[in-house]
Amino acid sequence: MADLLVVEDDETIGAALTTGLRAYGHAVSWQRTGRGALDAAAGRVFDLALLDLGLPDLDGIEVCRRLRARQPGTVLMMLTARSEEMDVVVGLEAGADDYLTKPFRFGELLARIRAHLRRNAVPVPSQTVLTVGDLVVDVAARRVTLGGVEVPLRTKEFELLTRLAVDAGAAVSRDTLMADVWDAHWYGSTKTLDVHVAALRRKLGAVPGPAGPPQVTTLRGHGYRMELPRGGR
Ligand code: CA
Repeated sequence: MADLLVVEDDETIGAALTTGLRAYGHAVSWQRTGRGALDAAAGRVFDLALLDLGLPDLDGIEVCRRLRARQPGTVLMMLTARSEEMDVVVGLEAGADDYLTKPFRFGELLARIRAHLRRNAVPVPSQTVLTVGDLVVDVAARRVTLGGVEVPLRTKEFELLTRLAVDAGAAVSRDTLMADVWDAHWYGSTKTLDVHVAALRRKLGAVPGPAGPPQVTTLRGHGYRMELPRGGR
C-alpha cells in the first residue's frame, strides 16, 4: 500500500489507472494538469508518481524536473506515447527513474510499481564499503566519494554504480544490470540504463582534483565493465 500520484489529462486512462490502483489498496491522488501535480506535491510526499508527459498546461519534462526537486525520494515513472520517445532520454535526465510506453498492460504497470516500492522499502543490509582506485562506495551510508570528494548521486545511479563496483574488472551484462537495479527484464529499448551510465560518467568526471574517476567501458552488445585501476584495487 502506497501513496501514489497519477498525473494524466486523459479522462479514460486516468480513471482506469486510479480505479485499478485503488483496487490494489493504494491511495491515489489523480491530477489532470502539471500545476495540479506540483500543488499536490507541495502538500504531501508521494512514494511514487506516474507522469504523463503530454499535459495541457505545463511541459511534462518541466513538471518532471520540478517534481524531482520537490520530492527527491519519490520514484518518478513517465508514461509516454511512442511519438514521445525522444522525450524519454530528456525525462530521465530531468530526474525520472523509469518509463513505460503507452499502450501498456495494467499488470505490467502494477509489477513495475511493486518492484520499485519493494526496492525503496528494503534497507541496505550490508556494511560493505567498496573501493575501486580513488572511488569509495559506502553502501551502508549510501555515500560515494572520489578522491575524498563526495559525489551526489540519485538512487538508481547509486545502485548502478554499486552493482558495477561489486564486479569491478568484470563484464556485467545489460540483463543483469536491469534485473538487479531496476528489477525488470527489458524487451527492447534499454535507454534507462544508458542514460544512467551517462549520468554516472558525467558526475564522476566532474569531480575536481587529481582523483581519476573509474572508467566505465561500454561492451557493445553485452553490457558494461568498470575498469580496475592499474596496479589492482
Ligand atoms: Ca496527455
